[in-house]
Formats: sequence, C-alpha cells, structure tokens
Amino acid sequence: MAVNRSGARRKRGTHLDASAPLVLDTRELGRRPGSMRIVQRVVSAPSRTGLDLIAIPAGGELELDLRMESVVEGVLVSGTIRGQAGGECSRCLQPLGQTVQVQLTELYAYPDSATERTTESDEVRRVTDDLIDLTEAVTDAVALELPLQPLCAEDCAGLCAECGVRIAIAEPGHGHETMDPRWAALSAKFGGPSTQDPSTTNNSTASGAFTDVEEK
Ligand SMILES: [Zn+2]
Ligand SMILES: [Zn+2]
Repeated sequence: MAVNRSGARRKRGTHLDASAPLVLDTRELGRRPGSMRIVQRVVSAPSRTGLDLIAIPAGGELELDLRMESVVEGVLVSGTIRGQAGGECSRCLQPLGQTVQVQLTELYAYPDSATERTTESDEVRRVTDDLIDLTEAVTDAVALELPLQPLCAEDCAGLCAECGVRIAIAEPGHGHETMDPRWAALSAKFGGPSTQDPSTTNNSTASGAFTDVEEK
C-alpha cells in the first residue's frame, strides 16, 4: 500500500503543498495583468512520469524553464520542461534512454474569474490558494511526447522468434532448421558427402608422389 506522507489525499479543494516540486507560487507575481516572472529551476520528478515502456523515473531531474504571466483570467504558464526518460526497446528489450522536452502553454484560472465560473470544473486548471500545480500538465505533455513503442534504433530487428536471441548480436543469417529432430540426428551421424570430396583429391596427389618415387 502506498502511504501518502503528508497524510492528505489528493482531492479537488485540498491545499497544495507550496514546496512540492511542480507547484509554483504566484504571490510574487501579483495580479496586475502583464506582470511576469521567470521560473528556472531543477526539481525532482514527484513520481514516475511517462508511459509503460518509457518514462522519467520518480526522482529524475526536471529542468523547468518557464514564465508565469498574469493575465485577466488567471496566470499563463509557458515554456519548456526537460527530463531524461529511460525504458526499453519495444522490439529487443534493450535498455534505452531519451531526452524529453515538452512545451507548456497552460492557463491557470483565478478562482473568481469568468473562465473559472463558466467552464466545466474538469476542463480548466486553477490557481488554488495562489498556487499552481503543474503536475497534471507535465504528466500529460510528457506522455504525449514519448513514443508508445520506443525503439533502440529505427531498424531494430528485435528478437529471434525461435530462441529469443537478439538479432543484432546473433551471427549473420541467424535462423533455425525446421527439420524433425530424428532426421537431424541421422544427418549428423552419416555426415555430409562433402567431407569425403577433399580426401579423394588427396589420394590422387599422394599416388602421384608415389609414382615419382618408383621412377628413381
Ligand atoms: Zn531494439
Ligand atoms: Zn534463434
């Protein structure tokens, strides 16, 4: 069971934690439309962010390069967030990494704004107690940016369907005979006729040498 350290469940209306990595404080910004604040900082991802096969791990670095702008309806947050995602190739299962950079442009509405009052509660992000929680926006943006089927290389040949060896490290032309195992055993026992051809050649040269000796 996951234990919520703060003891508070995430619910609409609950207070945001101003010290949480993806929570921005708008108090310094003020409410005068046009005022602007730059937010440049590196924080730890509060949880695993991404998709099943590839994600920024919990605790992974997130570089925020954002600006908060006060607008009539609320606070507009725009800029980029960058992180390093890790996962595995969807074909050959080799570990892989990828830098993810997402572009954010999100309006967080003031509680008493027209936007807030006229928009379905699920469809608008809000300023809560002068705080903005970017977590949801970042989670959505990162999920959109990452590939559903990550590949170590565009032409990754994946794994052999028969034995599971990674084709990239298998011998060239790797494949499997579909011969019945009993026939395979017989074939090995009686050898190929090809092994006898060189010995025939050797015999003829040997007899030639023998002839030379006789002539002396
Ligand atoms: Zn691969
Ligand atoms: Zn194989």
